[in-house]
Amino acid sequence: MRNLVAATDPNLRKNDLLVIAGAGGFIGGALTRYFTEQGFTRIRAIDKKPLPKWYQRVPGVECLCLDLSEKENATRAVESAAEVYNLAADMGGMGFIEKFRVECLRSILINTHLIEAAYKSGVQRYFYSSSACAYNTLLQQEPQVRALKESDAYPAMAERGYGWEKLISEMFCQEYYAERGLKTFIARFHNVYGPNGTWDGGREKAPAAICRKVIAAKDTGLHEIVIWGDGEQTRSFMYIDDCVFGIDQIMHCDQIVATPINLGSNELISINKLVSIAEEIGGVTLRRVFDLDAPRGVAGRNSDNSFIQEVLRWEPNTSFRTGLKKTYSWIEQQYHDRKAGKKVVTEND
Ligand code: NAD
Repeated sequence: MRNLVAATDPNLRKNDLLVIAGAGGFIGGALTRYFTEQGFTRIRAIDKKPLPKWYQRVPGVECLCLDLSEKENATRAVESAAEVYNLAADMGGMGFIEKFRVECLRSILINTHLIEAAYKSGVQRYFYSSSACAYNTLLQQEPQVRALKESDAYPAMAERGYGWEKLISEMFCQEYYAERGLKTFIARFHNVYGPNGTWDGGREKAPAAICRKVIAAKDTGLHEIVIWGDGEQTRSFMYIDDCVFGIDQIMHCDQIVATPINLGSNELISINKLVSIAEEIGGVTLRRVFDLDAPRGVAGRNSDNSFIQEVLRWEPNTSFRTGLKKTYSWIEQQYHDRKAGKKVVTEND
């Protein structure tokens, strides 16, 4: 039997209103496109970025520029909604979250107002995008880590700033269900990558940054690449298509209401390996320069997928090589478009 998703949920009609917060960004934009393709005709997409800066604009979707850390805006955002997906947060790769902890912590305002507004307006389901950064950092001190299972978030020692915000927002979701009966769903994403994501400007994550550096090295003829740390740190990376399909399945699985669940790949990759794969895709070999003072985050992190396998009999399964090929091609196009003076997806265009 296939898992329930929005399109097969008997309690959801195709013209029920879906609200997507953070839709001007990477995952929110992809989710908006996904639900449109599933035949949903009323989608309200919201982001604080001005509309011309959104990464994707999907035709037929109501797009609003609202700062959801303001209570009135959160109330306006969820009016008449059947389902709310919160993907709005001030976030970025390691370089961003280690440097801007206050901004990361202040994302607490978004979820706090949005979940209260969602509860008051009587939405059916509420989704929260948590992160693997909520896990206890003491369990992530070796590159060859044991994969993290859901219970590893406690005792808590999350990533400072960003990770603690995720953990406390998860708790809001759990208590809104326990005390008030709002059906909440919480996924802990492990590094998401793919086309239409941030690839330059300081908020990009490792896969996009490495692709960009390889492309730039080829373009400039300067066959050198700077790697943050010694490159031995490991992560798993989830392709964007797996992410949006996973969100849909998690949101419609009552068995895991108010229960955090990993949504990530369990293919562990070192940064050096990532560079080698990007070099292979680009058809080039570069001299590696290791910047040992750069932010590198925890030594290793992987997703234990036993729980998601148990409840959904599914896990993100796009191989890293396949996903990175598509991402590389997209970034290459962006790189050359920018060079030609065309509009591209970055924070600082
Ligand atoms: P993103 O930065 O591309 O998108 C987030 C969007 O939220 C941005 O467009 C931003 O403008 C918007 N936003 C920020 N503050 C806002 C506010 N006050 N009001 C309205 N909009 C606001 O990031 P993403 O990669 O798409 O991440 C989406 C969610 O997934 C976030 O909650 C993030 O923490 C979580 N997450 C992402 C990853 C990943 O690898 N990308 C990993 C773990 C968790």
